[in-house]
Amino acid sequence: MAVKRIRNIIVIISIVVLIIAGLGFNNGLLFNADVRIFVLDVGQGDSILIKAFDKNILIDAGPDKNLVADRLRLFGVKDLSIIIATHPHSDHIGGMVEVIDRYRPEYYLDPGIPHTSKIYRTLLDKVEEKKLKYIRPSGQTIHIQSAELFIFPVPDGIKNINNGSVVSRLSYKDFSMLFLGDAELEEQAFIMKVNGEKLSSKIMKVSHHGSNNGTDQRLLDAVRPEVSIISVGKDNPYGHPQRETLELMEKNGIKVYRTDRDGAIAILSNGDLYKIIREQGSIIERVMFIILQIKEFISGGI
Ligand SMILES: [Zn+2]
Repeated sequence: MAVKRIRNIIVIISIVVLIIAGLGFNNGLLFNADVRIFVLDVGQGDSILIKAFDKNILIDAGPDKNLVADRLRLFGVKDLSIIIATHPHSDHIGGMVEVIDRYRPEYYLDPGIPHTSKIYRTLLDKVEEKKLKYIRPSGQTIHIQSAELFIFPVPDGIKNINNGSVVSRLSYKDFSMLFLGDAELEEQAFIMKVNGEKLSSKIMKVSHHGSNNGTDQRLLDAVRPEVSIISVGKDNPYGHPQRETLELMEKNGIKVYRTDRDGAIAILSNGDLYKIIREQGSIIERVMFIILQIKEFISGGI
């Protein structure tokens, strides 16, 4: 009995030490970040939750019907302000209908390009049924208190749906993150021409799951990210992320995180500093991630 009690005390002390270490490790960002971004682990697909001040924004909803809707609740989301369907492929919009049903977003963004797959038509029916307000990407800035979400315009007359992806950039004081959807080099060339000055970002959600048609030196020269994040499924049949992409990141000294190895990835910022915590990272990160998730869950209201 005494041995068990001692063991319990050791476990509790260890947790407290980890929390204190974690607070130092995170410069307090664990509890004081106005902007929290979660690149969710959805397998082969994309889904990114942005919590900026009191607003929740979702970019894509992964391939699975229920997974993202279930996960959002665990991150304390009760409702969403804006949802963005970057483009109508099922690995990005598979869970969108369920998300709309459960979280009643006010605004809906997509490229507005005709695409007649069943899953996309079902989504558009739901958008209409729930009377979501449609925003067409046209180079507008959405203000979320002192943070800004810039929506790049989408090119006209595209043949490959990936090249009509909604690309956006969240900025807050010195912090910025670029979300590229599955935009390939053709769309990136268009963006560089019309709004190239807006691309520069500290963190980049890598385009098209790390495929080599989504990243090249020209893009990295325009964005100059410190960190890149690849949303990708384990052992996917496409060979994502591709070796060329990873080599390019390494050559440019860009740190790479990826959901197939790191699980969900949290990015916390107060506008000056940012911190990244991996769900499947070091022991301290794992504990921090659990604490962060509990904090988000409780702050969302039980
Ligand atoms: Zn995709």
